[in-house]
Amino acid sequence: MLPHLSAHFASALPELTAPWQAEATPEPRLLVLNEPLAAELGLDADALRTPEGVGLLTGVAPPPDAHPVAQVYSGHQFGGYAPRLGDGRALLLGELTHPDGSWRDLHLKGSGRTPFSRGGDGLAAVGPMLREYVISEAMHALGIPTTGSLAVVATGRDVQREAMLPGAVLARVARSHLRVGTFQYVAANGERELLERLVDHAIERHHPRAREAANPAVGLLEGVVTVQAALVARWMLVGFVHGVMNTDNMTISGESIDYGPCAFMDAFDPATVFSSIDHGGRYAYGNQPPVAEWNLSRFAETLLPLIDDDQDKAVETAVEVLQGFRTQYAAAWVAGMREKLGIPADAPQDLAHPLVDDLLPLLKDNGLDFTSFFRHLASAARGDAEPVRGMVLDLAGIDAWLARWRALGPDADAMDAVNPVYVPRNHRVEEALAAATAGDLGPVEQLVDVIRSPFVERPGLEAYAEPAPGGHPGYQTFC
Ligand code: AMP
Ligand code: MG
Ligand code: MG
Repeated sequence: MLPHLSAHFASALPELTAPWQAEATPEPRLLVLNEPLAAELGLDADALRTPEGVGLLTGVAPPPDAHPVAQVYSGHQFGGYAPRLGDGRALLLGELTHPDGSWRDLHLKGSGRTPFSRGGDGLAAVGPMLREYVISEAMHALGIPTTGSLAVVATGRDVQREAMLPGAVLARVARSHLRVGTFQYVAANGERELLERLVDHAIERHHPRAREAANPAVGLLEGVVTVQAALVARWMLVGFVHGVMNTDNMTISGESIDYGPCAFMDAFDPATVFSSIDHGGRYAYGNQPPVAEWNLSRFAETLLPLIDDDQDKAVETAVEVLQGFRTQYAAAWVAGMREKLGIPADAPQDLAHPLVDDLLPLLKDNGLDFTSFFRHLASAARGDAEPVRGMVLDLAGIDAWLARWRALGPDADAMDAVNPVYVPRNHRVEEALAAATAGDLGPVEQLVDVIRSPFVERPGLEAYAEPAPGGHPGYQTFC
């Protein structure tokens, strides 16, 4: 049985949609189906594998009562405002109802040109769609809020990139595709009534407590600041670099979205950038918190007319809420680092916090692999510091730090529960995507299997825990 799709977004906010259809796929072939996600959603995986199921997953044969739409939005891309972006190669098929009663967008990427395609071809290649599949699975397994990838279907149509590449459609599931850019579009183009309707829709779906706030728009701003502060802290704690934190790639729900030029950092360095187009390092690892704050300021601007009729008062209120980002982010980061270091909850702050601060220069100056360092540190908590000391040049520096840390009584088992053994290492991802592009899905399947249990060390998988030999200098990702 294939699922029913609602049209909550399309009927609530028709001004933000263009009814549209996916392009035909000459020779569709299901490459990967996310069975755990299908099960969570109460979907019948076997039905999704049939020709009808694949017709749904590519948008070519949506259910007869579905209302597929392309969504419009704006966005600041690398700081410059683009007034009209939108789903240039994507479609919202409609919403699924999760067994818990909440809604999930069923959304396609690579489904053909739309009214928002501008110069683009509307298509996507197998490699990048599988990258989104792999990375979103990794994020989910790490416990980080994220959109989910339900399936990738090869279309049988080639797409022109630097070379001709096999095309694919990704079926993505998300709590919604409301973005900061959605609000920017409405603020720039819409009537106040449309903005109110958008705020209502966002509150209903993601921040129901805002409904009880003295001013629901302020409540919404508070809610989004809170989920984004928590989200970006989670990214930072696993060394994730999103790569393209444009305002159209920041959700109102607090889910990570759009895994394009993203990657996990190996050696700790706040200046780490992977994206080939991020020349100025705007979206470097260490810049992610201030960029999130900047994006939230753009979000707040869109809400000003609903915050207060007096512009000065509205700005004052918004700034006050935005200031909460820094405190909430800092609290989430320190709490997360204390967990990574296994520091017991009752350890005094005045010892624990400087320990976190003093660790970062040690990580950077010794070029330490971020993921392995924390995992090896659990051995030190169990009495064997050699795995950590074996990574470090500055032995005097690390020994002094380890002594202070050990004095707090770190809990090794608690550390193992939060410090992953396996993240999708860049060279493993590249290798798997190259094989898939050439027709061999084995390495992608193996990689997905590994990253689905990130905290449990498994024999025979040592190579997946290691950074690339030689550290993969100059590794670049492309959109
Ligand atoms: P992104 O940076 O991937 O989030 O995309 C930014 C904008 O470019 C969005 O409006 C996308 O829909 C659009 N876009 C990206 N790739 C294509 C493509 N191949 N064809 C049409 N539009 C695209
Ligand atoms: Mg995007
Ligand atoms: Mg993208």
